[in-house]
Amino acid sequence: MISAFLSKLLTTRQASFTEEGIEIFDLNFNMQPLLSLVRFQNETKDGEKMEKLGYFISESIIAHFKKRFAIEEKKISNLWTNLFDISGFGKVEVVDMTKDKTILKLGKSNFAKLYTEKYGIQKEPVCHIIIGMFKNLIEKTSGSKVEAKETSCIAMGNKVCTFELKTIR
Ligand SMILES: [Zn+2]
Repeated sequence: MISAFLSKLLTTRQASFTEEGIEIFDLNFNMQPLLSLVRFQNETKDGEKMEKLGYFISESIIAHFKKRFAIEEKKISNLWTNLFDISGFGKVEVVDMTKDKTILKLGKSNFAKLYTEKYGIQKEPVCHIIIGMFKNLIEKTSGSKVEAKETSCIAMGNKVCTFELKTIR
């Protein structure tokens, strides 16, 4: 079923999918099979670059929101989360949130699931691109540098993917 958020964006013409391109809130997006990212990561074995990509994805969105809407941080978090939830990576849930630490989880991480289907159970977490996105979000909304790690991953045989984000003083 189409997400309520996307449906609202489409009916209010804040999102358009045409032959000329995809725009959401006047920002250009593009679409590719998730498997291409999974294969790229497996072939390059470069988690750091994947994290950087995730970081830039989030940064592009937040910078655009700030410029386009001049909205406050809290609202950026809500919009950001709504966009993430229709990105195809899965739905993000907040497990715990204190001043210095945020714990997020993906109950159904499509990236990790696909990674495991293609390459089997992994010894290390694989969701670097998602860590990068979360890291950027928390950095931009908290104004502090953030240390981020994935503490459980579906690709390692865990039930969910869990992400721990700590602000560094
Ligand atoms: Zn994971």
